[in-house]
Amino acid sequence: MQNVLIDAYGRRISSLRISLTNRCNLKCIYCHNEGEEDSGSEITVEEVAQIARICARYGVDKIKFSGGEPLLRRDFDEILRALPPMRDVSVTTNGTLLAARAESLKESGLDRVNVSLDSMDRDRFTFITQCKGQFDKVLDGIDAALSVGLTPVKINMVYLKGINEDEVDRMIDYVRGKPLVLQIIELMNFHGAFKYHADVASLEQRIKEKADKAVCREMHRRTKYYLGGAEVEIVRPIDNSEFCMNCNRLRITSDYKLKPCLLKNDNLVSVRGLSDAEVEAVLIKTVGAREPFFKSETAKVCQPYKIYEP
Ligand code: SAM
Repeated sequence: MQNVLIDAYGRRISSLRISLTNRCNLKCIYCHNEGEEDSGSEITVEEVAQIARICARYGVDKIKFSGGEPLLRRDFDEILRALPPMRDVSVTTNGTLLAARAESLKESGLDRVNVSLDSMDRDRFTFITQCKGQFDKVLDGIDAALSVGLTPVKINMVYLKGINEDEVDRMIDYVRGKPLVLQIIELMNFHGAFKYHADVASLEQRIKEKADKAVCREMHRRTKYYLGGAEVEIVRPIDNSEFCMNCNRLRITSDYKLKPCLLKNDNLVSVRGLSDAEVEAVLIKTVGAREPFFKSETAKVCQPYKIYEP
């Protein structure tokens, strides 16, 4: 019998997104930093293991690590080895430090990686990341991930007006025929970068018309398109109630707080220093209070934080 966590909008928590650090070695012009403000000390190996262990009791079987740049954590291997069995463990990384670590991360239990790569043009890449000399390291990181089987490697491309709108076909060609998936992400408004916001809905329409096949994913109701041997997923979070109403992820901040929504910071709950039983109680309450940021008109509130035993 499996207990599960379901919020008042009927959304079952099946995955965790854990921020390991606020630190980053790039300075991307638009970065949301997982919606975190500056935090104190970083989540420890034991804290990651604790929240993963407790959530696993409720059927959470997916963990994604993010940041900051998670590969700045020298103890990332240790963190991976401390996890309970999971169906899917992945990391989103800028890829600059991946080449040297891909093999050991795979051995420590990492299943796959997402690598952020917004442009195949060196100068544009330098402008977006505000850092020189990193572009080739990212490509090397992707190659290393492919060679050790951290696949499918998802290439995260934030779609930026006047910067990389003309690179979609080039990126599709890059992923074609390899265990790579292109994720095109709509820019969210952080750090005044919204002047680069480009219309992803019309891009999606163009991709849809060219696609051989489209498959709707459960998570966020994102659609994945297949175009002659290339896989392309569109992530459209803004004003998208479908996105929020199908969000089954709970976030954990880099200073060990439960964060029910990327776009809200007034409902964070610290679980630092609590026992397993205390964390479990706070978890159930916090999930119960979780609300979609963009709600559909027909969104129904059901019984709060009920734990079902199907
Ligand atoms: N440093 C890692 C990386 O580069 O992937 C992990 C952290 S980064 C915040 C995680 C993902 O969020 C990246 O794929 C990045 O492109 C995306 N992201 C950051 N800011 C964003 C924004 N304002 N809108 C949409 N996506 C964003």
